[in-house]
Amino acid sequence: MMSFLQVLAQWGPDASEVNDLSMRGFSSAMENPTTMLGIILLVVMGLLGTVVQKRLMSVMSKYSQVEAPVSGAETARRMLEQNGIHDVRVVSTKGKLTDHYNPADKTVNLSEVVYKCNTITAMAVAAHECGHAVQHATAYPWLRLRSSIVPMVNIGSRLGQVVFIAGLAMVGANGNTTVAWVGLALFACTSIFAFITLPVEFNASRRALKWLEESGLADGAMHDQAQTALKWAAMTYVSAALSSLAQLVYYAGIILSRAAKRR
Ligand SMILES: [Zn+2]
Repeated sequence: MMSFLQVLAQWGPDASEVNDLSMRGFSSAMENPTTMLGIILLVVMGLLGTVVQKRLMSVMSKYSQVEAPVSGAETARRMLEQNGIHDVRVVSTKGKLTDHYNPADKTVNLSEVVYKCNTITAMAVAAHECGHAVQHATAYPWLRLRSSIVPMVNIGSRLGQVVFIAGLAMVGANGNTTVAWVGLALFACTSIFAFITLPVEFNASRRALKWLEESGLADGAMHDQAQTALKWAAMTYVSAALSSLAQLVYYAGIILSRAAKRR
């Protein structure tokens, strides 16, 4: 499966602009401020993403050494129970960092380590996923909005690639940028989704931390450690949203520089 940039490099007009770091490609990018801004943003967001990922890994592994009173699975069962949710199952799922709540079959899926270990990391992750189950049960508006736009986002991102490449060809042929902008707007659906994900994630963590404290499972230092772990997990969503925005700026730059060359 080729990435979008590879497809663009192969089929898009003037591939040098897209990802060839030859002087010609680079200088043509330099001529257009939007492309230049896009490249800078992409680099900055790439670095930010790496830093956040590294920090998350180190925090998660540090707090998986700190013993907690109960396992992730037990945390999840208690939190669901105390929130009056009796129709959600807690199951163990294969892999690392595969923890998620599935609204379709009402299951809190915990990775093997989170499911069976009694550590701060396991407890924080399990409570966070139950936070999503509580959101679902109480029809939390941002979660409903996010679920409702999933089909549109799927179509938008797939159609966006084709429309954008066709649009670039059209800019080269007759200078008309309309189709290319439509392609970019379709891509923007993915960015909107990434930003709507933010309140959903922050809210799930807030519910998790509040419950951990109230239940007495994690208070004082343990609560702070759980909070740190969930904060860095949320930061990965922030950096993903900002990266998708940087990508939009970059693609806008490609359209603008292509149109400028035609003049
Ligand atoms: Zn989440």
